[in-house]
Amino acid sequence: MRTAISGPLADTETGAVAAAALRACVHCGMCNATCPTYQLAGDELEGPRGRIYLMKQVLEGVKPTRLTLDHLDSCLSCRACETTCPSGVEYHKLLDVGREAVAQAVPRPLGERIMREGLRRLTLSPGLFAALLGLGRLFRPLLPKALQGKIPPRVQVGQWPKAQSPRTMLVLKGCVQSAAAAHFNASTARVFDRLGISLVEVPKAACCGAVSFHLDAAEAARSQARANLDAWAPLLDQGAEALIVNSSGCATFIKDYPDLLRDDPAYLPRAKQVASLLRDPIEVLERADLTLARSPSKPKIAVHEPCTLQHGLKLTGRIASLLSRLGYEPQPVADSHLCCGSAGAYSVLHPETANTLKANKLEALNASNPATVFTANIGCWMHLSDGDGAPVRHWIEAVEAVLGDPP
Ligand code: SF4
Ligand code: SF4
Repeated sequence: MRTAISGPLADTETGAVAAAALRACVHCGMCNATCPTYQLAGDELEGPRGRIYLMKQVLEGVKPTRLTLDHLDSCLSCRACETTCPSGVEYHKLLDVGREAVAQAVPRPLGERIMREGLRRLTLSPGLFAALLGLGRLFRPLLPKALQGKIPPRVQVGQWPKAQSPRTMLVLKGCVQSAAAAHFNASTARVFDRLGISLVEVPKAACCGAVSFHLDAAEAARSQARANLDAWAPLLDQGAEALIVNSSGCATFIKDYPDLLRDDPAYLPRAKQVASLLRDPIEVLERADLTLARSPSKPKIAVHEPCTLQHGLKLTGRIASLLSRLGYEPQPVADSHLCCGSAGAYSVLHPETANTLKANKLEALNASNPATVFTANIGCWMHLSDGDGAPVRHWIEAVEAVLGDPP
């Protein structure tokens, strides 16, 4: 598509990134076929091609309206469209630019702003989040059904192994994750310890910044990214080999730090370094010697691959393949490319769409009556945990379960 970016983004690198995505799009509409919001609404402007067209208009100088904002808000950022696109359009890069431009041009009503800022602050305060979760679990039967579904089960965290291995890797602590699912990291640390790798959480690097970025606080997200880079730098300089991130939503966001900080020459080199050292645990474990570990009972399982794992990190099929090597029997899952509806704060801000997608996803995951559903992202785990089917857990727990007790 021909395009000419105008306004404040004209002749900037950010404008050039958006223009490259717009030019690559040939408007074929193939992406609509795998877009969850297009499938549900059957409306061109609720699909990627329509959203691309809206963003093109805005970036070329047309004043956006509330409707433009709504159509961009309702995008799940799942990136299924990117995987489908035959022209290699980097939709998420355009969306990041388009959303920030539209959010600045179309002021939200006060109630909406309070809701978004409240959500942002809550997720960035793990202590408060954990306290509210504790209260929610205590009074769960008294809460409305919709709220009950937002409270994940309590899981024993267990011991964090002593740092004694010669090899060290960093691990992202996480914001919501550290409050609601600290066992993800503890379990990952125990598994890595068995491989001779010590995992180190850096307390000052908690949230990746995605929550702020997706709630109209892009500058706060950039500050968070810079603070994280500063916190990781000394340990990376001392030889830490990688940054492990076991929630694919956070991992995808950190992989994009070089785009987030493209206008910041002081931090760009560090952002590139960290993005290149970032690993999902599967990328380490699939190369490790786990041949002795096998589940004797061949449990039937279903693997829920988050959109960020498939379309962001491009790691489709890798978890199921590892778990199958370890004696599990992953079952086929229909429409596995489709989003479960979690999408960060999306499930709170767009409950109707999120609940429809969740119901579809749970039906597909439970169709084969698996003993357990395994996932790879904190948001998906929380979103899918209140279903009636098999329990939902992080896949690293399946690895830990077959490793048995340390020698
Ligand atoms: S599939 Fe790709 S090229 Fe075709 S409309 Fe969608 S984004 Fe554009
Ligand atoms: S990111 Fe997902 S919801 Fe958004 S346009 Fe692409 S496929 Fe549709």
